[in-house]
Amino acid sequence: MSQILVAEDEARIASFLSKGLRSAGYSSVAVATGAEAYDLAISGDVDLMVLDIGLPDQDGFTVLHRLRAAGSTLPVIILTARTSVADTVTGLDGGADDYMTKPFRFEELLARIRLRLRADTTAEVTVLSHNGLDLDLRTRQARFEGKTVDLSAREFALAETFLRNPGQVLSREQLLSRVWGYDFDPGSNVVDVYVRYLRNKLGAHRFLTVRGMGYRLAEPS
Ligand code: CA
Repeated sequence: MSQILVAEDEARIASFLSKGLRSAGYSSVAVATGAEAYDLAISGDVDLMVLDIGLPDQDGFTVLHRLRAAGSTLPVIILTARTSVADTVTGLDGGADDYMTKPFRFEELLARIRLRLRADTTAEVTVLSHNGLDLDLRTRQARFEGKTVDLSAREFALAETFLRNPGQVLSREQLLSRVWGYDFDPGSNVVDVYVRYLRNKLGAHRFLTVRGMGYRLAEPS
């Protein structure tokens, strides 16, 4: 199981990330300072770091610079509220593998984590298939029984989450955090509404309701 280090001083976001990563099958450890982030990152005990730039003691760029100067090749995905091009360039020049700006969609962060963890091993899957449905992850297009189906970005992300987790019951809370992110009201019924959209577009019996628990993808027939 891959161990992800989350360096983030905002407790709400750190806890959102840790919960989401665990529900996606990773183990995660969170720290709130640059010094702790550096120590853990250099220890060799983690497989990837999600690094916030605005940390209280030394900023993420400094942590990254020290890490690369010490010869570490740990994959690092920078997470920051700053959106300027200058910061992006600083981050990438400083040895970051990828860059995401807040607010972000958790499913997108997961995709980037998967990509970085697999970069040297297997090729990334580009099409997910299930009972006559194909999701092309590069073009973000869905095809159902040979025809292209228009899905909104959220619908696509929700369908992708189901197809990436066959056989697994996904709770509303998991789906909310993975597809909608941390800015969403946990009491919202938006998941149910979107599952209904997907059933209309992609087949009524593809996404099953598991009473009291959530939803899961139907067994392939
Ligand atoms: Ca911060």
